[in-house]
Amino acid sequence: MVDYKKIGLVNTRAMFAKAVDGGYAIPAFNFNNMEQMQAIIMAAVETKSPVILQVSKGAREYANPTLLRYMAEGAVEYAKELGCKHPEIVLHLDHGDSFETCKNCIDMGFSSVMYDGSALPYEENIRISRQVVEYAHKYDVTVECELGVLAGVEDEVSAEESHYTKPEEVIDFASRTGCDSLAISIGTSHGAYKFKPEQCTVDPQTGRLVPPPLAFDVLEAVEKKLPGFPIVLHGSSSVPQDEVDTINANGGALKAAVGIPEEQLRKAAKSAVCKINIDSDSRLAMTAAIRKHMAEHPDHFDPRQYLKPARESMKKMYIHKIINVLGSNNKLQEN
Ligand SMILES: [Zn+2]
Repeated sequence: MVDYKKIGLVNTRAMFAKAVDGGYAIPAFNFNNMEQMQAIIMAAVETKSPVILQVSKGAREYANPTLLRYMAEGAVEYAKELGCKHPEIVLHLDHGDSFETCKNCIDMGFSSVMYDGSALPYEENIRISRQVVEYAHKYDVTVECELGVLAGVEDEVSAEESHYTKPEEVIDFASRTGCDSLAISIGTSHGAYKFKPEQCTVDPQTGRLVPPPLAFDVLEAVEKKLPGFPIVLHGSSSVPQDEVDTINANGGALKAAVGIPEEQLRKAAKSAVCKINIDSDSRLAMTAAIRKHMAEHPDHFDPRQYLKPARESMKKMYIHKIINVLGSNNKLQEN
């Protein structure tokens, strides 16, 4: 049993309470490798932002769970080395698919876990969520649960169609599970292809696809039922079109990739939404920088030559999200 507090991590409780009060959201960035992790920590330290390092099932399979855990431990020390005296870093399991996976992560030092039973029947979702919460709270680990189904594909998580969260269920769900935060479905979705072209309209000036707006009425209804309760948005990459263009101009073939406009996320961050998950934008920033570098320097073969600009590009993107979209800059308790 690893005590996350001993390795300098924090859970989400105080962080979320402050974010809900302050009208901003904490960034939850997924990481799979060292360069992503470095970029996330550099961005968080530079902007004095709390941050959630997210590990998905796919990341655990790709990088090895033990290695990821030690990387997160290293991230705390790295942040201090970069000049942040009291970093606020959460190590969070993204989309835990069973009690066992959540328990395993808690036992190895995660400070927060998500149990995602959103695809299960309602009562079954409550039963397992409750089981995870009971175990997690023994160790002061916070738990995110989910109601409503997001469309799209991200690692192991995939669904054809989305179902908005039903506001009439949230009081019952939150009180019976005892969860610390709730992921809801209001029209965001996983991956870089969030909407089919037929769901979008076309901007006559740019010719770009414009996605349908998020269901802010559902978010408002949830907030009315659970005032001040921490709400989470998954699948909230914006899929910047300049990154998509760079990828396509350098040999890529991303067709009609569409994300959530940043103005809508900014609006959500000002509400009870206190955690916004961003993964695809980091993938796009990394891939665009690598493709561009490879195209401009066909003679390079040292991975550091192309991973360095890739890391720089991700860091820039994270800083932009923290300052201009989530508003979590300068929100550390101390420093
Ligand atoms: Zn998700």
